[in-house]
Amino acid sequence: MIRIGQAGIPLSCKGRTNKDGLVYTKNILDLNAIELQFVRGLYIMEDEEAQFIHDFAKENDVELHVHAPYYINLAASDEELDVSFDKIIYSATLAQKMGAKSVVVHPGYYGEEGEKKTLKRIIKNVKKLQGNLKKDKIKIKLAIETMGKQKVFGSLDEIIKICSDVKDVIPAIGLGHIHARTNGGLKKREDFEEIFYKLKPLRLKHYLIHVTGVMYENGNEFYHVPIKKGDMPLMPLIDLILDKNYDVTFISESPLLEHDAVYIRLQVEKAIMKRTGKEQANYKDLSEIVKNG
Ligand SMILES: [Zn+2]
Repeated sequence: MIRIGQAGIPLSCKGRTNKDGLVYTKNILDLNAIELQFVRGLYIMEDEEAQFIHDFAKENDVELHVHAPYYINLAASDEELDVSFDKIIYSATLAQKMGAKSVVVHPGYYGEEGEKKTLKRIIKNVKKLQGNLKKDKIKIKLAIETMGKQKVFGSLDEIIKICSDVKDVIPAIGLGHIHARTNGGLKKREDFEEIFYKLKPLRLKHYLIHVTGVMYENGNEFYHVPIKKGDMPLMPLIDLILDKNYDVTFISESPLLEHDAVYIRLQVEKAIMKRTGKEQANYKDLSEIVKNG
């Protein structure tokens, strides 16, 4: 199955609440995923809105994810760590009320201790965080995101290591970030194959994939750009996903948000039509092209 949506309230949506954004995503855009952004400080949401989002998403089969505030440092100690925990637990509590599938979290920063010790420290803290979530009866999955700058913790290998060491933690596969960090490493089908090959030991049944164009230099991301303005091609990835019948959710985090989510949709449908030879396709229906499907 392929799901497609964008990170946050669509730009073209007049109403600026998450509820408005969700309804618009389904009714106007005909997309079936959204990653709600709780990124600016502490987000307040009334129970009523959370309940509405929960019911609407369920009835209309829209998959929800939540992005926790950007500034989080799971490599910190003491107070800074507590603040990061609070932000994540708060986001996760809301996410659970809304029936979201995961909470996307940025891992943190390398301290003076170097990469290996930072990794150890983050693993230790993520375990502790999982314990706290459990205590609060929060069952939502933490999705730890790959990051696009060398000095920021979060290469694909590091994220995979956390996920293999801490149960129920999954990766948020930020392709723009991986592309920037590897200085333009995602160009061909084999480059995308390598990502899935590395992820294999995690035995994921579903992949949360962020897509955006990105400007970068020397393995460092500068900023996001529209998918077409970047140099990471989508088609080899889409072909691979269709060939392998991977269950994925694409979240556009390009500056064009839903416009690029729709662009992803068009690319997926083009790939389907290429296979069926028909002049129409719907990204939600892979029955004609999936083997034994
Ligand atoms: Zn992020």
